[in-house]
Amino acid sequence: MNAIALHAHPSSDYVIKLAEARGVLAQAAAQYAGGDGAASTVVQASSLGAEDMVISHLINSLQLDIAIFVLDTGALHQETLDLLQRLRASSRAPVSVYAPEQESVLQFVAREGKDAMYKSIELRKACCGIRKMEPLGRALAGKDAWVTGLRREQSGARGEVPLVDTSAPRTKINPLAHWTWGDVWHTIRENKLEYNALHDQFFPSIGCAPCTRAVSVGEDFRSGRWWWEDETAKECGLHVKDHDAAAVSSLQSRRAPA
Ligand code: SF4
Repeated sequence: MNAIALHAHPSSDYVIKLAEARGVLAQAAAQYAGGDGAASTVVQASSLGAEDMVISHLINSLQLDIAIFVLDTGALHQETLDLLQRLRASSRAPVSVYAPEQESVLQFVAREGKDAMYKSIELRKACCGIRKMEPLGRALAGKDAWVTGLRREQSGARGEVPLVDTSAPRTKINPLAHWTWGDVWHTIRENKLEYNALHDQFFPSIGCAPCTRAVSVGEDFRSGRWWWEDETAKECGLHVKDHDAAAVSSLQSRRAPA
């Protein structure tokens, strides 16, 4: 049974939530439109997960001026890279790919080993700092807002995610904040959207290959991410608050070669 057959069960207020998501995206495109031919200052950060494929679909179908970017950490599954190619081939909105600085990755792996992420939370976050946070900073440079696939249902830490988060200087727009997993898959089925083949192998949340595993029936949505760590540590830095991001950044710089 594939992910669509398993999960595509919309909630009773799906139509309202779909309209809400469309409205939030349209509002963001209008609010952050670049004047006089300048680029829009809102962008979608896509992990190529199911939620992000839905958001890219909404951006494309509404013909919104919101570009898409993907972080290719150099440690993604082949299935994710294959989906990236399909998205780039089919998307109306431009899709940019940001990769980490090769020299930083090479030095980190040479110093700490290719399995460093399993040795300590500090090393895992340092790896995320190099492979995700640094390229994320470049992807968001000059942008006033970004669109993410965060949903309240994904984890306890995300239980109060707002539709529009203005708590940081750069606004975060979460059009699917109120959606269920069933709503996401219903949209994928109804619109015949592309999705990551790993979702058919019981990977609900997909990150880098060394740090993602399949989940079993009854396990939490994000239990396959950094499964060896305590629940409270399970964010890579992309969606932590400023004071936590500063801590990640500090860890990364402490580990940088002299
Ligand atoms: S998710 Fe794992 S492999 Fe990817 S950047 Fe973080 S620690 Fe490194």
